[in-house]
Amino acid sequence: MQHLIDRLVRPEIRALNAYHVPDATGQIKLDAMENPYTWPLALRREWLNLLAAVDVNRYPDPHGVELQDTLRKTMGVPEGMGLLLGNGSDEIIQMLALTVASPGRKVLSVDPGFVMYRMIAGFAGMGYVGVPLRAADFSLDPAAVLEAMEREQPVLTFLAYPNNPTGNLFDRQVLEAIIGAAPGLVILDEAYAPFTNKSFMEQLGDWPNLLVMRTVSKMGLAGLRLGLLAGPRVWLDEIDKTRLPYNVNVLTQVSAAFALRHKAVFDEQTNRIREERARLFAALSAMDVRSYRSDANFILLRLGQGRAGAVFQLLKTRGILVKNLDGAHPLLGDCLRVTVGRPEENDAFLQALKSALS
Ligand code: PMP
Repeated sequence: MQHLIDRLVRPEIRALNAYHVPDATGQIKLDAMENPYTWPLALRREWLNLLAAVDVNRYPDPHGVELQDTLRKTMGVPEGMGLLLGNGSDEIIQMLALTVASPGRKVLSVDPGFVMYRMIAGFAGMGYVGVPLRAADFSLDPAAVLEAMEREQPVLTFLAYPNNPTGNLFDRQVLEAIIGAAPGLVILDEAYAPFTNKSFMEQLGDWPNLLVMRTVSKMGLAGLRLGLLAGPRVWLDEIDKTRLPYNVNVLTQVSAAFALRHKAVFDEQTNRIREERARLFAALSAMDVRSYRSDANFILLRLGQGRAGAVFQLLKTRGILVKNLDGAHPLLGDCLRVTVGRPEENDAFLQALKSALS
């Protein structure tokens, strides 16, 4: 069997590791940027009544029209712009790649950044160019990005706003210069939009090559798997051709539309997360770690040299799962990323970290 695998599987796939999701059984889960709050009981009951009336013998609405209407209103998609739905924004990244992929073409992003841009570029047989962020504060280096664009002529440029795993927002004017200069499409990935007031959604249409991607995962619906892409219809019509039929299942369509009709509940939760982020940041600032300011629902920390692995393990033995980023990129040496949880979870994390550092 092995020789068949060696012969048949593309070398670039053989070289990859599958996206790893660690077992979190029994742990306080602060590793995956989830919203830690569940739904109020009354909302759950109403939702279950709706689900009970769904006919799962039928295929879902192929375009999720009702859901699209709700999303347009709640996400502020400008009038006249198109919308495309995906099974998580991960699937949208894949559709974008399939739309433009051909041998020799490149995808550009910044490093450290969201790993799926690189992985999906590889799945689609394209090269990946990762322009390093500035070491001091993870800001964009405009000259480096523009020079790489000129040299590599990327067909797609992904920029997360705020960025994962660093949590910062890139400078708006620098982003505008990059969009203006890009030879291909620029996708601003606003996955963490619920935790910041900044967005490019209203700027859609100002450039012919700008698209904005969002997800409902971080606002509290990660289990539904729903992402969206907004932008000029002429682009979305092309990208839509790579979408598998019925990619957003009927339970997700009904549940997400229902949840978004009660968006105030989720806004209240994400506001609490923002407040906790400020409290967590202040507490970390008083400790012997460097913490980076974040506009997302997580905070990147840098520990003393060579300490990340041991501290990560100590936190784990105390029942707290964070993300160890040491070794993921040269700029992330000694770094851990902690998702903002509920107050008591954050307290448990702070306590455990304090004792791990002493
Ligand atoms: N973009 C960024 C920047 C992310 O961090 C993530 C998830 N961690 C995603 C996209 C994927 O989100 P989804 O759950 O919608 O696939």
